[in-house]
Amino acid sequence: MKVSVVKETTPGERRVALVPEAVVKLRAADLDVLVESGAGEGAWLTDDAYAEAGAGIVSRTDALGADALLMVGRPDESTVAALRPGQVVIGLLSPLTDPDLVRSLADAGVTAVSIDMIPRTLPRAQPMDALSSQANIAGYKAALVAAAEFGRFFPLLITAAGTARPAKVLVLGVGVAGLQAIGTARRLGALVSAYDVRPETRTEAESVGATFIELSTVGPAAGEGGYARALTDEERLAQQQELAGHIARNDVIITTAQVPGRRPPLLITEDALKAMAAGSVIVDMGASALGGNVAGSVPGQTIVSEHGVTIIGASALPSSMSAAASAMYARNMSALLTYLIKDGELALDVSDELQAGVVITSGGVVVHPALGGAPPPTTANEAAPGGQPAADEQSSGAQSDEGAVRE
Ligand code: NAD
Repeated sequence: MKVSVVKETTPGERRVALVPEAVVKLRAADLDVLVESGAGEGAWLTDDAYAEAGAGIVSRTDALGADALLMVGRPDESTVAALRPGQVVIGLLSPLTDPDLVRSLADAGVTAVSIDMIPRTLPRAQPMDALSSQANIAGYKAALVAAAEFGRFFPLLITAAGTARPAKVLVLGVGVAGLQAIGTARRLGALVSAYDVRPETRTEAESVGATFIELSTVGPAAGEGGYARALTDEERLAQQQELAGHIARNDVIITTAQVPGRRPPLLITEDALKAMAAGSVIVDMGASALGGNVAGSVPGQTIVSEHGVTIIGASALPSSMSAAASAMYARNMSALLTYLIKDGELALDVSDELQAGVVITSGGVVVHPALGGAPPPTTANEAAPGGQPAADEQSSGAQSDEGAVRE
């Protein structure tokens, strides 16, 4: 079976799906590995390094002809147009937020495997958890970006020229990225506090050195699969109002809040921004085309509000550490691939919970229940595998203006 690494097409994306070390591993598993010439450039990996690891260096056309295409992000339109039925595409496809891509992959007859849909709570899925590996990098870099932008010190400094008090950093959203941001800001010497709607995050935040903030007006909001649920409109307003006081007391805020398949929740409103001191810095890791955790944040841009608050729309942090991010992603990718193959060939079995979680299209149809697809006949007919809430669960019950993006 031929697998190929294609050069990423998303503007600014510097990561690559496999690094040479992973090529060696996959060749040992009887796979032929092709690498599109220049695919590793953004991560400082040369064609020669891949060739030494045993990969064939090929043109884009040849890479697109392989049995399975490995990528970091999503295939663009021209890539999808070049695919033939039966091919496999594996990447961070974000199918919950891109139903058009899902449909076009189904129409192309390809088997789409979305690594971000892995059921993350399954122990055997841990080595394949690319959301966690990339969120770890993003959280670390968010703290560094914040420190670099902040006009004062993070640590307490006592010098002959005066004493600098430590920066107060607030981390909103204590998932994988938030925990890493807390740890990194602490290591830089800041005083860190943190908040999340999932109650279990208190001990996690405290274990890496943050003081946990509990809101009196918003109760716990844990959802399915370890994720948060969307808040109701009432809860959201109460949260925004009560958080505003905490926000105003901090110098630096890092926001990481996400709810799968939905717009990121708005945590810092225009009014909260106005109450912050000039010179404060916000890194919005939720920044997206759909809106972010911070009013007015723009993905990929740094803006300064009229009150002097710097808002960094930090949407591509893992790509900014492309060497580390690619190395970790490649380990996730090769762990998934070796799990999916038997005797050198792809052997998909969607009666397996892990595989049912990641396979989103197959045989010309959408098969993932969370995307409205019917599982193939061989699938154990269980609801919403993948640790992700099913579409109907997402749009029922608690509603908010951060509605499901597919609505
Ligand atoms: P995420 O990126 O989906 O969200 C980031 C954080 O935002 C979450 O902690 C979430 O609770 C929080 N959030 C959402 N809405 C919010 C709101 N309105 N206000 C404040 N905070 C809000 O999360 P993630 O980092 O991908 O991790 C989600 C969960 O999955 C965590 O519990 C993590 O420990 C768990 N996880 C488990 C495993 C495992 O079992 N091995 C592996 C990876 C992740």
